[in-house]
Order: sequence, then structure tokens, then C-alpha cells
Amino acid sequence: MAGLEDLYKEIIMDHYRSPRNRGELPTPPAVCTEGFNPLCGDQITVYIDVADGVLKDIKITGQGCSISQSSSSLMSAAVKGKPLEQVQETIGTFKQLMTGHETALEDGKELDKVDIRALGELAALQGVVKFPVRIKCAVLAWNTLSQALSELP
Ligand code: ZN
Repeated sequence: MAGLEDLYKEIIMDHYRSPRNRGELPTPPAVCTEGFNPLCGDQITVYIDVADGVLKDIKITGQGCSISQSSSSLMSAAVKGKPLEQVQETIGTFKQLMTGHETALEDGKELDKVDIRALGELAALQGVVKFPVRIKCAVLAWNTLSQALSELP
């Protein structure tokens, strides 16, 4: 599995060095929410533009560790242009990866494989669960996106 771990590291560093969907959107019509992880000093601002039940556009600014920033970039790439239902589903699956991954492994590898496949590049962040203090870094962008979605008019 060493090869896979190297690939995951590469994906994370790629998104850290060349973050996707970086920038701001005019508010309104976009909704903007800030998130902060005091344990690590990570800070993220998520801008979302929603119309007709679809996340038309997402932009992110912020600073912090490689995990928090690459997670926000991976997230933006995963949810941009998707129906809100699917966005919520992806948020749920990612949080499951961060909190219930071990359980999923115990339940059976088949279930685990399905989850990983559905996550695509997001699966690169699964190594984070081995370092509990970094989980807050990885979920910061996701919690901020959830907050932004709940603030939609
Ligand atoms: Zn961090």
C-alpha cells in the first residue's frame, strides 16, 4: 500500500501548492462564511453561489496548514456545479471518512471500498484519521461549507 500512500500525499501537496477555486465571489448574491480552527490556526472563508438548487460556483480564501488548505481545495473541486442534495451527501460521506473510517473497515472491506470509490480524490485525506489532532484541520472547510449552506436565503 506504500504506492497508494505516496499517491495520496502527492494529491494533497498538489492541491496545497495549486489550490482550486481560489478567490472571492461578490456578496450578495453569493453567501460567505468564515471558519477558524484555533488548535492549528487554520482559517478558511467559503463563498458559494447557489441557484435552482445547484451549487453554481464556490470560491475559497484562507491560510493554514497543508491539510486544511488542500482539504478546502479538494472540497471545492468535488462540490462545484453539483446539486445541493449531492453536495450534502458528499459532506456526509467525507465526515464519515473522518469519524467512522475504522468502523467501516471493521464492518467489512466491501463497504469501505464503495465509500472510497465514491470519494474520488477526497480519499487522499483518509490518512488524516491516523492523526486525530489533524482531523479538525481536514473538516474545517467542510464545516464552513455546511454553515454557508445553512445561511442561504
Ligand atoms: Zn491545520
